[in-house]
Amino acid sequence: MSKAKDLQEYIHKRRFNETPEPIGKQIKSNHDPIFVVQEHHASHLHWDFRLEIEGVLRSWAIPKGPSTDPADRRLAVLTEDHPMEYATFQGTIPVGNYGAGTVKIWDSGTYKNMKPDPIDKCFDNGDIIVNLLGKKLKGSFALIKTKLNTKNSWIFLKMKNDL
Ligand code: MN
Repeated sequence: MSKAKDLQEYIHKRRFNETPEPIGKQIKSNHDPIFVVQEHHASHLHWDFRLEIEGVLRSWAIPKGPSTDPADRRLAVLTEDHPMEYATFQGTIPVGNYGAGTVKIWDSGTYKNMKPDPIDKCFDNGDIIVNLLGKKLKGSFALIKTKLNTKNSWIFLKMKNDL
């Protein structure tokens, strides 16, 4: 099992005496793993897709937002791990702070890993298929790391057939 990244990058980017965002920590949960999508009106509007993996929220910024059309391949840029507490965060990050702007929960729910490997291994391999049980996002979605030089580039897409 791979080791989850720690939350140092998340913590270093934020001033918790100014931002309402949670400090948080790594939490081992015993519930079904969760996902959340947060609509983030920052300097550039984007949607943050987060998957619970090994007690943190692995996170991707999707500039165009998730699509439920299998024909749409959406760029998803891997960003820093967020604490589990972030899954319920909504609010306004003040001007002058990292990610300044409003955050709204766009969708949330639980997910099932559809690959034979554990989800942390799939993450390390850059090859994830999950079944999302959300209100807007339902069914099988893939997150695939691209082979481009830009090492944080992944593609998010709906699978044609649900696994
Ligand atoms: Mn964001």
